[in-house]
Amino acid sequence: MAKRLPVIGLTGGIGSGKSTVSQLLAERGARIINADTVGHQIYQPGTEAWQEIVQAFGREVLNPDGTINRARLGEKVFSDPQALARLNAITHPRIYAAIEEQIRAIRADPPPGIRGIVVEAALLIEAGWTPLVDQIWVVVASEEKVIERVMQQRSLSREEIQRRIAAQLDSAERQRYADLVLVNDGSLEELKATVEKHWTALTQA
Ligand code: ATP
Repeated sequence: MAKRLPVIGLTGGIGSGKSTVSQLLAERGARIINADTVGHQIYQPGTEAWQEIVQAFGREVLNPDGTINRARLGEKVFSDPQALARLNAITHPRIYAAIEEQIRAIRADPPPGIRGIVVEAALLIEAGWTPLVDQIWVVVASEEKVIERVMQQRSLSREEIQRRIAAQLDSAERQRYADLVLVNDGSLEELKATVEKHWTALTQA
């Protein structure tokens, strides 16, 4: 009988390198489930989540085509903890269920060459999704590296990035949940070597 595919939960702060690590793992036979993508899917027009969001936040969060305007929804919950809690109560359990279903389906019929599953989720810990995964990998980078990389990647100011870092779960707290901490302060080549080492250890165990 085939071995049960391991599930890694991959998380980390803004700009720590989650997407980069995901990409490296995908190239090495991981099937990636991106919680953000799942988040989009669960509130497509006509779904229950869509209806509940429109009820809670009004039609002004809709695009002309009826899809949810994430930026506008983000503005509504940005500095209103109660509104954010309301939104999370609508979306988080559904994202959990959808990821669980995707894991089940992949495990039931693993695509050829797939050696593991990665759930990439910035909010893995905060949203309480850790029961879905066998192991938690946390990507960390120093604040200076994060600022430098994110400023290059997007048009965000240093202050804006620092504000976002401050709004997230503290990095030390996140690392307390980690089975593995991937330190991403060096080059991409170094990151690649680290990822390769741990992925091989996991999938050839
Ligand atoms: P976010 O949470 O903001 O989506 P993330 O954790 O997914 O970010 P990435 O998008 O993987 O982070 O990385 C942020 C930026 O830093 C990207 O432009 C990426 O190419 C770059 N980067 C990541 N790791 C390294 C590295 N070791 N060396 C140089 N650049 C890197």
